[in-house]
Amino acid sequence: MESARSPKQNPRVLVVEDEPDIAALIAYQLTREGFRVETAATGPEGLKAVNREIPDLVVLDRMLPGLSGDEVLRQLKSEQTTRSIPVLVLTAKREQEDRISGFELGADDYLTKPFSPRELVLRCQAILRRISEPAVASGGRVLRAGPIRMDLGAHQVTVDGAELNLTPTEFRLLQALMERRGRTQSRRQLLEKAWDVEADISDRIQTRTVDMHVRRLRAKLEDLGDWIDTVRGFGYRLVVPGEDS
Ligand code: CA
Repeated sequence: MESARSPKQNPRVLVVEDEPDIAALIAYQLTREGFRVETAATGPEGLKAVNREIPDLVVLDRMLPGLSGDEVLRQLKSEQTTRSIPVLVLTAKREQEDRISGFELGADDYLTKPFSPRELVLRCQAILRRISEPAVASGGRVLRAGPIRMDLGAHQVTVDGAELNLTPTEFRLLQALMERRGRTQSRRQLLEKAWDVEADISDRIQTRTVDMHVRRLRAKLEDLGDWIDTVRGFGYRLVVPGEDS
């Protein structure tokens, strides 16, 4: 669907990267693809830039002097005004665990260095497409499960009318579960739907990533958290009491 490709004409991307060559390469490539790019060389500069003008996307290097990328991410995710900004984390190849940590902190995607600039552009476009898709493609579609109401157009979830504060990833995870309620989906399937990544990462990391987010989603759903049923050795499904499953 062509109209769903870009949410805005020239999305604004903030690149937080301390290596000037890499920052310049990323900025060049993204600018060429129509993004408006701002760069920051340190964590504090990055946070300042975000607070000056909320970007559509942040590309965040994990290894930064002073304030680490993790800490920047943590701060972004802890503030009401910045927590829904999607973040693509750049990690070093040798540290597989980085990926997990990024996801645990609420990164929307990660890219391992060294990466091709083209890959980076595709990932950025995919993240922005995912965010714009529900509004464009669903035309205000609403999913319901008991008292849970998910408005795909408004990107809002309520339980008995009270708004649930979900991160973009948690939202997509819940959406995947609600769209196929009663049916079991593997962690790999959920990962592909909620994160839009090709499942090229190890089973162990898939498991930890999905389990972590399910745990958070359950906690936010409080009493209804039990509706997310663990299917041992396979994955998860949403079971609404009283419905056939
Ligand atoms: Ca760095």
